[in-house]
Amino acid sequence: MSGNRTFTMVKPEAVENGNTGAILAKIEEAGFRIVAMKKLHLSEDRAGKFYAVHSERPFYGELVEYMSSGPIVAAVLEKSNAVLDFRTLIGSTDPSEAADGTIRKLFAESKAKNAVHGSDSDDNAAIEASFFFADLEQF
Ligand code: UDP
Ligand code: MG
Repeated sequence: MSGNRTFTMVKPEAVENGNTGAILAKIEEAGFRIVAMKKLHLSEDRAGKFYAVHSERPFYGELVEYMSSGPIVAAVLEKSNAVLDFRTLIGSTDPSEAADGTIRKLFAESKAKNAVHGSDSDDNAAIEASFFFADLEQF
């Protein structure tokens, strides 16, 4: 059965470009409730740990460098069918392949600098939420 929470980050270039508010508005308009949220700057070490699943991929080094290049906004979101519905809302990894109206189509600069993160499974959503937030910080 599909769960009701997912985890997202507004990535550094989207924060830098002043798109945090517009992206959060899209998320709330789509029916997601913000359960937890904070702005923080990941160290290279923390970014590397978050993306450890990709450590063998060719883009891993650049991804870690990029994700630690400036502050991000991390959030836990709630909605029925949260993981899949959020993946639909953000669109494909590569914005040139993302559907019209999706957050990546609207805000991403490139396949690497693609504006937002979204969990890919219920298990990873729970792992990623607890990477950033204690239980007492999730409402
Ligand atoms: N990424 C990249 N080049 C690629 C694939 C991915 O730079 O060829 C980056 C991109 O920022 C992406 C992240 O690595 O969002 C994680 O990749 P994943 O395949 O999990 O994509 P996502 O789940 O974010 O759509
Ligand atoms: Mg992914």
